[in-house]
Amino acid sequence: MRLRRTTQLTLGSLTALVAALGCTLTGSAPRAQGQGDWIDAHVHLFADKGALADFDEAARKALEIMDAERIRTMVVMSPPRARAGPDTESLAKITKKYGPRIAMLGGGGTLNSMLQEAGKSAEVSESVRRQFEEAAERIIASGAKGFGEIAAHHLSLAPGHSYEAVSPDHPLLRLLVDIAARHDVPIDLHLDPVPSDITTPAHLAAAQNPPVLKANIEGFERLLAHNRKTTIVWAHAGSDPLGSFTPKLVRELIERHPNLALSIRPTSPRIGSMVLSTGDVDEDWVAVLRDFPDRFVLGSDTMIVAAGYTGPNTPRAFANRGENQRRGIQRLLSVLPPDLARRIGYENAERFYKLGN
Ligand SMILES: [Zn+2]
Repeated sequence: MRLRRTTQLTLGSLTALVAALGCTLTGSAPRAQGQGDWIDAHVHLFADKGALADFDEAARKALEIMDAERIRTMVVMSPPRARAGPDTESLAKITKKYGPRIAMLGGGGTLNSMLQEAGKSAEVSESVRRQFEEAAERIIASGAKGFGEIAAHHLSLAPGHSYEAVSPDHPLLRLLVDIAARHDVPIDLHLDPVPSDITTPAHLAAAQNPPVLKANIEGFERLLAHNRKTTIVWAHAGSDPLGSFTPKLVRELIERHPNLALSIRPTSPRIGSMVLSTGDVDEDWVAVLRDFPDRFVLGSDTMIVAAGYTGPNTPRAFANRGENQRRGIQRLLSVLPPDLARRIGYENAERFYKLGN
């Protein structure tokens, strides 16, 4: 994939942008008049399980960011935990207090750990299915706008950051799709794409990843076909650790699957990045956004960590990445035509997650 300038970006404005942003996108991205409002559909708040005051502190930090950066709503959720952890217990109270500006998904701290455990075998017992379904029903009853973050394939990026992989059409994922259809809610899915079996690249070998990564796109397509009523929001388009999450792959899957949506996390140093550190926006990605304007939302993957959080250090280590992604999102919105910026910026998210209801 070749990197080109978008037609909206003249050489002069590029020079000005590079001067303004340096190479780390730490400055303020330029904004066209009337553009820039957006919904961040993928945010994580970190505090210890049951520590409501700490979750509240993280939520207040989230609101400060929202006020400063024209973010209308944040959709918060537990990351996809390998072992059971905080999920919607405190977030349900947070969303009651700060809704509709903060909305939540559920399952990353409960359903996902059940899935990872069950994923070790192809068979699932009736009692595990029942426990999973009951937990999913409780999540929806507590006010979640959908399920997430659920992982079918999650690469480890650092020691202590877990590797998670299950068959993308595992029986519990198919069950979750059916439960989501019943409630007319979406699923936020983390699936680092692997088009065909590959040896784990050197830059990922030091973390907790296995030596070989198994192909997972065909399984993902079977999951999408399993129940067309459920929208699956495939997280992190525009930045993946392998460089396989390309506009070409996304275009092919969108064309085949009417229930596939994606959330954009736009900046990465690898192939497949939507917004480069120079401010360049990849033209092939923009073409996919233009051709499928109803399929994309924005999800910075910002991690907001309470001061009193005592869990693994990864969220603090990754905490500064969110700001860079949010700058990339503002940059992306600034080069899109206003109608497309509005749809991807907030209208699609309002529709998928039924925000404001
Ligand atoms: Zn994720």
